[in-house]
Amino acid sequence: MTMLHEHQISATRLKQKAHSLGADLVGIADGAIMEQFPPSFPGAQTPRDITDHDGERCIVLAKRYSIGTTRLPRVDERHKYYNDELTLTELEAISLELVLWLEDQGYPALIIPPTHVDPWVYFGEPDQHMQTILSLTHAAVEAGLGTLGLAEQLITPQYGPRVMLTALLTSAPLEADKKMDEALCKGPSCGRCLQTCPADAVRHYERDWQACDKFRSPHGFHALADHLSEIIDEPDPQKKKEMLRSKEQFYIWQSMLRGAGVVTGCRRCQDVCPVGSDYEKLQDALDEIPETSPEKTTRLESYSAAEKDNRLPAAYRTAKRWIGTI
Ligand code: SF4
Ligand code: SF4
Repeated sequence: MTMLHEHQISATRLKQKAHSLGADLVGIADGAIMEQFPPSFPGAQTPRDITDHDGERCIVLAKRYSIGTTRLPRVDERHKYYNDELTLTELEAISLELVLWLEDQGYPALIIPPTHVDPWVYFGEPDQHMQTILSLTHAAVEAGLGTLGLAEQLITPQYGPRVMLTALLTSAPLEADKKMDEALCKGPSCGRCLQTCPADAVRHYERDWQACDKFRSPHGFHALADHLSEIIDEPDPQKKKEMLRSKEQFYIWQSMLRGAGVVTGCRRCQDVCPVGSDYEKLQDALDEIPETSPEKTTRLESYSAAEKDNRLPAAYRTAKRWIGTI
């Protein structure tokens, strides 16, 4: 029960407001369904783990990446990291405006960020992959925005996987959207996300997140821990000093300043996906995949053969709800 005066609002009105603030896609998930179907990875959280009062609806907002930066094919491209960080900052500002608007309508709400991990969960291992507080890709599927692809990325009909997400929890009485049933991913017969991955982290509807993190967050906490350990272990005082002034240290400092290279990084598996109405504006720059290798092609062929024989992998079976029917 809230102490605020509640105005009548509808899902349509809420979405109009979110779009007017700059969101490109908006969907509403039913919190009760998210409780019933939590993501399958260990430690996955649901709205009730975050709030006892304001989690009946999960509003998922998406902002598209700018086309100019997606057309930059290099993985270690700091312009890309910086532009993506601006997209995130804009999305966070839109989310906050929407939270305040919901409060003005009488409904408390809070933002779930896409990048921050649970501050209470740390296992003393900088390389270990850590999940965000709530899986926004799974929430986005429940909110009807798209389905998950071969690399567990969210794919939308409008922008393919080329979106950034935030979510708001609220108990405003908004009509929830329906999940899509059919997979948007074209599967291993496409496999472009697997072919391009510099970490070779993409499997059959799953991802080696630990391998991916080194590229997805190239100057993140694990890079900082590794770099500082190397400095501490270096016996030569002159070399130690040089390491303090090195390019690695400079990138880490720059990244901590803005988050570019920490909360943003590689997104090649999103860039090259042919799904999405926007892909025709990207095709000339992204069609060629230089990272392709015979080993990757052979693996994709084995995945395709398994699908033809109806031998779907365990990863698909456990995540079928979010991947959709293939
Ligand atoms: S973000 Fe980069 S490293 Fe990670 S799965 Fe995608 S392509 Fe591979
Ligand atoms: S690149 Fe192809 S295989 Fe990968 S997610 Fe997109 S459609 Fe699916």
